[in-house]
Amino acid sequence: VKSGDSSRCVSLSGSGSTDSGGCGRGDSLDLHNKHPDERWPRQNSLSMKEWDIPYDELKLFEVIGTGRFGTVFRGSWHGAVAVKVLHVLSDDCVPLDTFKHEVATFRKTRHENLVLFMGACMKPPRLAIVTSLCKGMTLYTHIHLRKDKFTANKSVIVAQQISQGMGYLHARGIIHKDLKTKNIFLENGKVVITDFGLFSVTKLCFGNKLVQSVRGDSLGIPAGWLCYLAPELCRALTPHASLHLPFSKATDVYAFGTVWYELLCGEYPFKSQPPEAVIWQVGKGVKQSLANMQASRDIKDILMLCWSYRSAERPDFPHLLSTLQKLPRKRLARSPSHPVHLSRSADS
Ligand code: ADP
Ligand code: MG
Repeated sequence: VKSGDSSRCVSLSGSGSTDSGGCGRGDSLDLHNKHPDERWPRQNSLSMKEWDIPYDELKLFEVIGTGRFGTVFRGSWHGAVAVKVLHVLSDDCVPLDTFKHEVATFRKTRHENLVLFMGACMKPPRLAIVTSLCKGMTLYTHIHLRKDKFTANKSVIVAQQISQGMGYLHARGIIHKDLKTKNIFLENGKVVITDFGLFSVTKLCFGNKLVQSVRGDSLGIPAGWLCYLAPELCRALTPHASLHLPFSKATDVYAFGTVWYELLCGEYPFKSQPPEAVIWQVGKGVKQSLANMQASRDIKDILMLCWSYRSAERPDFPHLLSTLQKLPRKRLARSPSHPVHLSRSADS
């Protein structure tokens, strides 16, 4: 988050709650939802209440980190949790429905490769999302900070689990919109994906502008974000882009391609190129060259398919999973059901 952004936030400890977000208001959201599971609004208004955690019940400990949407705390609520406290614009209460919609999305998810959603604080200005606390490190930390090497076999096992979690989300009609190595944890070899479907919450945080701090000729785009954006998203970006970017299942698959590249190469595509150059190239259909990449044809083909310029040509996650399962394994020491042991050595 750019330093200038903090001035736009209101303190969450303030007492000026408009309380427009009583949990019962979630009813209207559910009434409009056409999913068969959602046909009984009364039942759903009760279940919406079930997910509403009173802010006072949460214990917040140290800050784990700050992202685009808010600050994440280690916390306690019937055990260890992660609490994402959202930065809320003081004068912007309208998108509360957006937040409730995200919560409604979250509560529909139960998969071992997805973070466990426990509930949310839904009374402004105290908006927070409570999930299980991931114990491992993110793939970002493994790859870019610790410089851990992932062998092809380990990369395949991780990619399979990501495909499983993402396939589940897509089958439930949920688009992640922010799939990146920072949102993928590894817990004893098990992949846990976080922050799915939360992207629209930025409206709550930063109003309708994607890029708030335009300084000089910089586009002020968060570092390490652009390389996950499919060509159709890059083309829709402007310095004052509204958040109505054309996200789709296929843009998630493009982002998965970038994660696959990071796993295999240990760096981001278009490394050290300025944002303007990346946007221009990707928008025109230029891909990161794989000439220097030491990998088999099959592995590179997956990358090229995920990065297809035309969204319709990108595979879906079930297809990716079966392609990954068919890849020949070299010296696979452990069965895939065993945890992957990560080490700094090149080929452990
Ligand atoms: P980003 O995803 O861009 O890093 P976030 O706001 O999502 O930003 O996360 C901020 C920090 O909190 C990151 O270091 C992230 O790894 C950590 N974090 C987020 N969710 C969890 C979680 N459920 N368990 C443990 N740490 C988390
Ligand atoms: Mg995150």
